[in-house]
Amino acid sequence: AQNRVREHHSGENGHAAEDYFRPSRDKTDTSHVLPWRDSTATTYRGPVLRGSFIRLRSWRPLDRRRSRAPGPVALSPGQVRALQRADRVRGRWIVRAVALYSLVGWLVVIMALARLGISAPVVASGVGIGVIGAALFASFLTPSAWVGATVVIANAAVVAALTHVFGTDASIELQLFPIGLSTFLLVPPDHIRARAALAAITALVFGALQFVAPPMDERAPFDADQLARTSRVSNLLAAATVLVLAWLVQRRFMTARRIFEGAALYGELRAATDELTGLVNRRPVQARLEELERTGRTDYAIAVLDLDNFKDVNDAYGHECGDRAIQTVAGVLSDCFRDVDLVSRWGGDEFVVVLYRVLPSELASTLERVRVAVENTWYTWDGKDRTVTVSIGGAIARTGRTPMDCLAAADDALYRAKEAGRNRVILADRFGPATESRRMPSTGD
Ligand code: GH3
Ligand code: MG
Repeated sequence: AQNRVREHHSGENGHAAEDYFRPSRDKTDTSHVLPWRDSTATTYRGPVLRGSFIRLRSWRPLDRRRSRAPGPVALSPGQVRALQRADRVRGRWIVRAVALYSLVGWLVVIMALARLGISAPVVASGVGIGVIGAALFASFLTPSAWVGATVVIANAAVVAALTHVFGTDASIELQLFPIGLSTFLLVPPDHIRARAALAAITALVFGALQFVAPPMDERAPFDADQLARTSRVSNLLAAATVLVLAWLVQRRFMTARRIFEGAALYGELRAATDELTGLVNRRPVQARLEELERTGRTDYAIAVLDLDNFKDVNDAYGHECGDRAIQTVAGVLSDCFRDVDLVSRWGGDEFVVVLYRVLPSELASTLERVRVAVENTWYTWDGKDRTVTVSIGGAIARTGRTPMDCLAAADDALYRAKEAGRNRVILADRFGPATESRRMPSTGD
């Protein structure tokens, strides 16, 4: 593949050493990746930009990198809308499930009562059950908050009716706890007052029943043993239902949080992303430089890269061709540097990279490899393969040199690289060019 690509590019079968880097066509070719990258595990990730879709790169301050907890996932407005829609649908299914659960539960209770020939609570709670059934039916027709609220009120009414007839010894009024809690699932979160009011009503009913409802008396056709058993079942059901509902409330809360955090992160990343290349723009770099100054770290280096004679590309082939050249270089940079390095499009045809834990002795060869990779990567415009070159200035951090000084030193080195003839790497801390220029920029003709 390497040969085929080279032939395609140059039309000759040369074996010059500089022809070794031909990264851009063969997406599985990793020969151009830097040595500290595991080249067997890394494949070419393709252009950063696909169509108009910008891949947002997350970047985090260094002190947050160590945290193990997965951060929020950025969600685009479309994804947010889809998740919110799914959440609303889930909400309506929860309303139906709760309505069905209470319907079946109360039916079992009044069937048991009817078998014992007790008709008063059967009639009272039968009305409540009818209302819950109607709400269940309505939930398929309308997403109205009233549906959920009706289920809460009807449930509370059934509990009140049963407790009023049988007294508090059967512990049926304990069901008011899950009913109060269910308010936070059955009524949508934006109806805060309705939620609070309904939860308060269930609490009030519970409190009132403690005083109004008669204790076990002769009216109840239960013996003590039956009452104890009923009470036990009611206790267990109330506890289990509260747990399940609390879990559901937690799930919905987490979903809402994920959506909000995802939307916020998307906005944050979007504001820190360069539209054209998908690289970060200068905002995260400035934040990173401030952070480096604050922490006093000196294990980093800064490289400034600038396309050579880029105005000529624009003038000769138009702005769009220039854009393609910038995207091509951005793709090479994001592929060549490690994920820990911060690769930014600083603006125009200039890129700034913050490299970490790079040995002073390695910086020149590292940047030289990047220069060669750019030089040997082409893009196609107007049916012709074209290449661009970059000049690179680099500076190593050291005590007494602030990050801004380091950036200025790298920029100064870049200026010297331009002066010295372009397409070369110059370090601030070493006199003279680190490398010889290989080839002057070619624009394809
Ligand atoms: P040098 O080798 O000295 O850097 O020469 P140069 O022609 O590249 O000069 P300079 O870096 O000053 O040129 C930057 C040019 O890049 C100026 C501007 O027209 C062009 N440019 C800046 N941003 C964009 C962009 O987003 N797209 C395109 N196509 N051109 C851009
Ligand atoms: Mg330039």
